[in-house]
Amino acid sequence: MRLTHARQPSILRHLPCKNRDMPSSKLKPAPKTNETKLARLGLHTDMDLVLHLPMRYEDETQVVSIHEACLRGGHVSQVEGVVTKNEISLRPRRQLLVTIADQTGDMVLRFMNFYGSQVKQLAEGTRVRARGELKHGFFGAEMVHPAYKVIVQGAPLPTVLTPVYPSGEGLSQAILRRAINAAMARVDWHDTLPASLLRTMNLAQFEPSVRLLHSPPQEIDENALMDRSHPAWVRMKFDELLAQQLSLKRAQRARRAKGAPVIQTVGALTSAFTAVLPFKLTGAQARVLAEIRTDLRHPYPMQRLLQGDVGSGKTVVAALAAAQAIDNGYQAALMAPTGILADQHFRKIAGWMEPLGVKVAWLTGSLKKKDKVATTALVESGEAQLVIGTHALIQDTVQFARLGLVIVDEQHRFGVGQRLSLRNKGSNGKTPHQLMMSATPIPRTLAMTYYADLEVSVIDELPPGRSPIVTRAIDQNRRDEVIERVHAAALEGRQVYWVCPLIEESEALQLQTATDTHAMLAEALPDLQVGLVHGRLKPAEKQDVMDAFTAGAVQVLVATTVIEVGVDVPNASLMVIEHAERFGLSQLHQLRGRVGRGSAASVCLLLYQSPLGGIAKQRLMTMRETTDGFEIARRDLEIRGPGEFLGARQSGQAMLRFADLETDQWLVEQAREVAHDLLHATGAEQAATVEAHLARWLGGKEEFLKV
Ligand code: ADP
Ligand code: MG
Repeated sequence: MRLTHARQPSILRHLPCKNRDMPSSKLKPAPKTNETKLARLGLHTDMDLVLHLPMRYEDETQVVSIHEACLRGGHVSQVEGVVTKNEISLRPRRQLLVTIADQTGDMVLRFMNFYGSQVKQLAEGTRVRARGELKHGFFGAEMVHPAYKVIVQGAPLPTVLTPVYPSGEGLSQAILRRAINAAMARVDWHDTLPASLLRTMNLAQFEPSVRLLHSPPQEIDENALMDRSHPAWVRMKFDELLAQQLSLKRAQRARRAKGAPVIQTVGALTSAFTAVLPFKLTGAQARVLAEIRTDLRHPYPMQRLLQGDVGSGKTVVAALAAAQAIDNGYQAALMAPTGILADQHFRKIAGWMEPLGVKVAWLTGSLKKKDKVATTALVESGEAQLVIGTHALIQDTVQFARLGLVIVDEQHRFGVGQRLSLRNKGSNGKTPHQLMMSATPIPRTLAMTYYADLEVSVIDELPPGRSPIVTRAIDQNRRDEVIERVHAAALEGRQVYWVCPLIEESEALQLQTATDTHAMLAEALPDLQVGLVHGRLKPAEKQDVMDAFTAGAVQVLVATTVIEVGVDVPNASLMVIEHAERFGLSQLHQLRGRVGRGSAASVCLLLYQSPLGGIAKQRLMTMRETTDGFEIARRDLEIRGPGEFLGARQSGQAMLRFADLETDQWLVEQAREVAHDLLHATGAEQAATVEAHLARWLGGKEEFLKV
């Protein structure tokens, strides 16, 4: 029997990778002590070790006869026998063949890699216990590289299952086991949760649960252990989730203790702006705007994530919030991850607001020194009421006179630190309100458990008049047909994006590919204007190409992923993505979101190179089946798992090792309630419980949870 958990603890995903590019002979690392190896797994304290729980177990509690192991064939079994023959054979290759026998038969233990000491250790007459998968091979019944132990006759079998821990390079199970056992002898086992709570929540006690998981008795319900529904696992998961909820709620309290500008009135600018908008807000836009307005009136800073699928119209909602801040005498700042996007926002919003007398400033790294200094001065004096730009906004030289609202577009493109530093630009001891926007939807469970103290608003409706995007996956050897199609579409007055393959390993190669693709298409489509935009162009050049495309002078735009976020050219209705199999799901969704913005029926063609791998196939199928960003995010989560989905950069750190957000949703709810009760109780006892629990489960890691 082999107990393998379906899901491995996320700690495995954080293990450092080997550097494959470097020949191993050149790598001469300083010898690592066990302590540093443990530290690399995040195991610093005794409690860390105690909470380093097995990912699976091996059953060494039973021995079967060699005859029976042969009958079982193909399964892992443990046998015991005496060595009857020990030889090194040289054909078909050099290997050690050890024959063992019991009363029922004999079999071979075969080692392709072995030490001289093993040859001696397994001398004739030695009694061994060997565990492995029995196969019928060239030498008859055999186990290849079994786990084995030399024993004396009658040596007792273990009575508990043997744990297998998540481990790292150079860290053997034996070392881990020893370190964990030593820690278990030293650690303070007190239960952080009061007995009354355990009773009402029907939870197992801490110490017995942990001990059981490290060494489960042989008669345990294996299935419950494997799928982590055993009460001992439930206790671990509950504790972990509770720590997370406590920490989130504390972050929320800390935020509420900060002062923020009160942005009360909906004034003249907001009304005038609403009146000049060329469209009516959708119901969803109006609803989320009302949610934002409620927050802006609070004397503590808003922290809200505005989620809406690509094209759902987040920009105008943000602009209306900004107008309200300006109406109340405050400045607003809008930060976007790319120059192209910041530029587009600037034009659009300035186009709406400048005629109404608002001073809108534009700040990116590409500005000339002189202009930058001038703009920075406008921001500092407060003359610039709305400031739109890129990362340039968070530089130390940029100071605001009275910043009331910060808006971060495509927030997942920024690191935690970058978002914080914009928020820290408030003045007079006030923290500005913060609105983050993203088209990469985070499923509710994730938002709830991973994001510190975050309110979420969702635009779940597209503006009227959009026609659905049809998506097709096409083998790239049919590229000529695709070019034909591009040609026909352009002749009908439609505009086309041609997205170049992603080449993660080399930016230079990516650039080369883009240039080649451009040349190829320009040659194949001599009667069309083919443009090229990529990350290495100067900002002014980028702008020229984008302008020409927006104006319709360029019909086909060859682009790298610089167009991935935000770009809005409603007349573009055909998109070709080359080597679509190299892109992630959310990236494909973002890219595809550049079409389907006007009333023309849009098409997205995903060119792929066969044969497709399993995950790539799943991704392309998902893209064909749905254009719903939330559904795509849900499937992405399924394919990749939450740790990767968020990326360490975004989540601070994937914090959950044991709980699974999909299957343990009920526990999340319970942990939330208990966290709420504990924090709202006034007794010293509850406060002590909170402290003890957080110290045990998060230690110094609480900082990671701050958004
Ligand atoms: P995203 O949510 O992806 O950032 P945008 O804010 O860029 O979307 O909006 C997409 C397009 O839809 C823009 O051209 C915008 O002007 C337009 N738009 C936004 N709201 C509405 C609406 N209520 N009715 C019609 N068009 C709208
Ligand atoms: Mg946008």
